[in-house]
Amino acid sequence: STGRTAIIAGNWKMNYGPREAAKFVQEIQPALSEALQAPGSPLCILCPPAISLAAVRAVLDIPDAASSAQIELGAQNMYFEEKGAFTGEISPNMVHELCTTVILGHSERRTYFGETDELVNKKTLAALRHELRPIVCIGENEQQHESGETAHIITTQVRASLANLTSEQAREIVIAYEPIWAIGTGKAATGEIANNVIRQIRQEYQAIYGAEAASVVRILYGGSVTSDNIAEFMAYPDIDGALVGGASLKPDFINIVRNSRQ
Ligand code: PEP
Repeated sequence: STGRTAIIAGNWKMNYGPREAAKFVQEIQPALSEALQAPGSPLCILCPPAISLAAVRAVLDIPDAASSAQIELGAQNMYFEEKGAFTGEISPNMVHELCTTVILGHSERRTYFGETDELVNKKTLAALRHELRPIVCIGENEQQHESGETAHIITTQVRASLANLTSEQAREIVIAYEPIWAIGTGKAATGEIANNVIRQIRQEYQAIYGAEAASVVRILYGGSVTSDNIAEFMAYPDIDGALVGGASLKPDFINIVRNSRQ
């Protein structure tokens, strides 16, 4: 990551309700905070289930939603409308009360809940309007990977999910390249494969938003990242950190943060 502050984000998915979430954060906070003091440390963002955000915030004792906090909070999803008759949804302004960040378009949302690039784009624009940092997830599935469609899929997803950003917004978003075949499978991509696709994403981004935006936008890798393989990914110039699923649920997450230092 050439001059870009790396991000290590933990996507807890549907794990840890308020009680367990508070207990886990109590357990990891001292060592995690200490690990984050070292030079070259990444920005660390915890993304618990929405119902556990307040409990985690209370443990972390974050004074306000400001990004001055050492450990930031993110939601895993949200709707794009501000309020109203949308049973079961949470809005950008609600998320903004507790979080700096929101994960959008995760492959599980696309696969199980039918989210399209168009919906992800609406959510991305809504997040930016509310001063939330979107982490927009893209990535090909196994069949697309094997039939050589990755570049095409990535191009389509970047153009549609990330459409209509202002030049300022184009600098602020974060993209997560998450090949679906690597998520939760223990079969991480190699650093070389991930860097090659991420370089293509950056080139595509440059074609839309220009060289300046493409040089500052952070692009993360996600898919079976562990404390053993994070350093390999961080060694590549286009990879600016990781979105971590399963391995963010254990104290070993602290070692991912440590081993990501640059
Ligand atoms: C994810 O869901 O964003 C993810 C990368 O999961 P895992 O690390 O478990 O593969």
